[in-house]
Amino acid sequence: MPSWSKLLLAALALVLGLAAPAVAQEGKRIAISFDDAPRHPGGFMTPDQRTAALIAGLAEAGVEQAGFFVTTGNLDTEFGKGGEDRIRAYVAAGHVIGNHSHSHTWLSRNSAADYIADLDRAEAWLAGKPGKRPWYRFPYLDEGRDLGRRDALRAALAQRGLMNAYVTIDDYDWAIDDLARKAVEAKRPIDRNALRDLYVETIVGTADFYDAMARENLGRQPAHVLLLHETDIAGLFIADLIKGLRAAGWTIVTMDEAYRDPIAQTEPDTLYLGGGRVAALANIAGKNPQSLVYERTNEAVLEKLFEERVIVRGDR
Ligand SMILES: [Zn+2]
Repeated sequence: MPSWSKLLLAALALVLGLAAPAVAQEGKRIAISFDDAPRHPGGFMTPDQRTAALIAGLAEAGVEQAGFFVTTGNLDTEFGKGGEDRIRAYVAAGHVIGNHSHSHTWLSRNSAADYIADLDRAEAWLAGKPGKRPWYRFPYLDEGRDLGRRDALRAALAQRGLMNAYVTIDDYDWAIDDLARKAVEAKRPIDRNALRDLYVETIVGTADFYDAMARENLGRQPAHVLLLHETDIAGLFIADLIKGLRAAGWTIVTMDEAYRDPIAQTEPDTLYLGGGRVAALANIAGKNPQSLVYERTNEAVLEKLFEERVIVRGDR
């Protein structure tokens, strides 16, 4: 090949390389995660129906890879029957799984040794399973309220090659699901469209709240990790939620991509860890914890909205 054409090819490659769309490093990016699988049922469907609905909804919405965090103790319960098959179904659909402990307890209420033994029990169950990632999601986002337990767990996870599967967006989706379940059980009439709107609007609002917090305190937009639970309302409305996030300017990314963000590389040096990683970093930057909680991350606020908007009253 004449040298001029090699040069031309090299120049062309350079131009194409520069022109190729770079992977978005900023903008509103979010990965979707579900805790407590296999979770207790809500008010609308069986656990098998819920898994089928979640898989279909995520596929319909074009979510390539969500994360499911498994509480292995739930597999031993009545509602956990068939849970292993449901977890396998999520993985077969392209999603990934991580450790959410065996007993779902608080680090701050247990000795570090007992707590570590419990997560090891879950890890033993997860070992070698397809779709398994080396991720540990703390139940209640409780990373310990003293330095002793916090740092014992940081060391234990590092020793096991496990990453703290932090979230950046903490919300009370479970509280909305609970309100709906109780209303259905009490045979109170509910407006499903209003339930969908309350769910979507609350989660999108929370995501935007944490994104603004990141821009203000980190000076950048990390790839966010959304905390959801394996609820019936997620089964009913996950595709609507993803549509709502996109309408608000969010791009959905995989869990693998989110955990490649630089904020995955550091453990914030604070005890304010229960609101997720962005809130922890904002706290280190000097923010008062009270300013770091979204107004709807509150059971009383959600109950009031649920009563006003979702419950159908005879007088209207
Ligand atoms: Zn949990």
